[in-house]
Amino acid sequence: MTFEELGLSPSILQAIADLGYQQPTPIQAQAIPVVLMGRDVLGCAQTGTGKTAGFTLPMIEILSSGRAKARMPRSLILEPTRELAAQVADSFEKYGKGANLSYALLIGGESFVDQEKKLDRGVDVLIATPGRLIDLFERGKILMNDVKILVIDEADRMLDMGFIPDVEKIVGLLPKLRQTLFFSATMAPEIRRLADAFLMNPKEISVSPPATAATTVVQGMVVVEPEQKREALRQLIRRENVTNALIFCNRKRDVEILFKSLTKHGFDAVRLHGDMSQPARTETLDKFKKGEVRLMVCSDVAARGLDIKGLSHVFCFDVPMHAEDYVHRIGRTGRAGREGHAFSLAAPIDGKYVAAIEKLLGTTIPRITIEGLESAALSAGRDSRKGGDRKGGDRKGGGRHDRGRQQQEKRQRKAAEVIDAVVPHPEREIGRHAMLEASVALPVPTEKEPHFNRHQRRSGGRDHQATEQLPPRPERRDGRVHHNDDGGLPGVAFGDHTPAFLLRRGRSSEAR
Ligand code: AMP
Repeated sequence: MTFEELGLSPSILQAIADLGYQQPTPIQAQAIPVVLMGRDVLGCAQTGTGKTAGFTLPMIEILSSGRAKARMPRSLILEPTRELAAQVADSFEKYGKGANLSYALLIGGESFVDQEKKLDRGVDVLIATPGRLIDLFERGKILMNDVKILVIDEADRMLDMGFIPDVEKIVGLLPKLRQTLFFSATMAPEIRRLADAFLMNPKEISVSPPATAATTVVQGMVVVEPEQKREALRQLIRRENVTNALIFCNRKRDVEILFKSLTKHGFDAVRLHGDMSQPARTETLDKFKKGEVRLMVCSDVAARGLDIKGLSHVFCFDVPMHAEDYVHRIGRTGRAGREGHAFSLAAPIDGKYVAAIEKLLGTTIPRITIEGLESAALSAGRDSRKGGDRKGGDRKGGGRHDRGRQQQEKRQRKAAEVIDAVVPHPEREIGRHAMLEASVALPVPTEKEPHFNRHQRRSGGRDHQATEQLPPRPERRDGRVHHNDDGGLPGVAFGDHTPAFLLRRGRSSEAR
């Protein structure tokens, strides 16, 4: 199959040829003709499969005829993160250079004024993260009536990040008669439900990931005591032939600490995490992508989808708590058929997480040793971080989040038990409601996408599915919920007030 056979116009074919693409990837070969026909698409595909061109190329073709009116975009692409949105905008520039289309990138953390100016001029393609798009819509800066093509990209990531209520809201604002292209790496039941709601008689396209991590990336793992991880990393960087590397930490705070430590030891490094301003994030990423700096210490905000040409190494300074995150992290290297290298630094307490990763990969990550450092053994416990070794501070974050979650669940169980014991029916339902209202905590914030946290705070949590059915959060009304400095779990208390139903003597005590 060639690009010429897909029905694309000469200017697009020229742009593709200039980029050196010789033939369409499987998702492009399947999606492009279907999109050109005007049909909805349900695509099960990850980044790295060429999916962006799979929807961008036919969109350029379709949008080439027609003109955009002020504030009325003709197409909309929703992306979960600002970095992915920016990457899609780059694709429009690359592929659409002969097409004379205008686009606007609407992402959080950047000036409203510039984005509004662009909208006023009229744009053919709007590429947005859900939060900023809703903000601008609510300010009356965009009209959605003219959107003829909608792309929902990385739907599973949107779900992870709590954006689905926003996405549903946005889709509700669009004309019913439109073409919808929906992409997700997985088709969990919740994703399937959305696809059923948003798409009309879609063509289902499924492509497997370009290659499994194990085949294109040479992997290795060092197991040392936590306080030796920095030394181990430094030695690895020195002994490996590192052209450029991403170094992942689980927490934003640890990104900062490691960045400072590496800089102090003379390594040229930058850092990227979600607490940085958007201009700083963009500038850092540009610098790294251009090869001006060799190392980028980052949180998982950089793990998904980022396309960094020729990245030679990935280091997981922390073992991720979710096995899929490992695959996403190491998938930044070994792209486009090149050999990549991924090294992880594990502490003994990471046993459970390493086991989960190896189970997902279906292989054992080879253990390697570092000269002068004693290798440690991974613990085999089911929950090895719980009450485990906390020396060195490398794992504080994961442990605290896990602990926080357990405490939260315990509080909720206890609350339910108290209600069961003391509240007679029919007050039980009211009591349970009140207790849940007081004991339910915010979902544990992840570091994957800071916009989630900010937007969630701004919107009072309306963008997280876990809060959909729940009453307003207590911190909005009485200010008793406290976030710790790094977005950790809030604590909840009744304070001086004890609800009446708790003071009432229960049946069990009456019986005694
Ligand atoms: P994506 O999955 O859209 O993030 O694309 C992953 C990478 O593949 C990007 O660097 C694209 O530039 C590249 N790419 C996309 N389509 C092709 C193609 N047909 N041939 C070669 N490279 C491609």
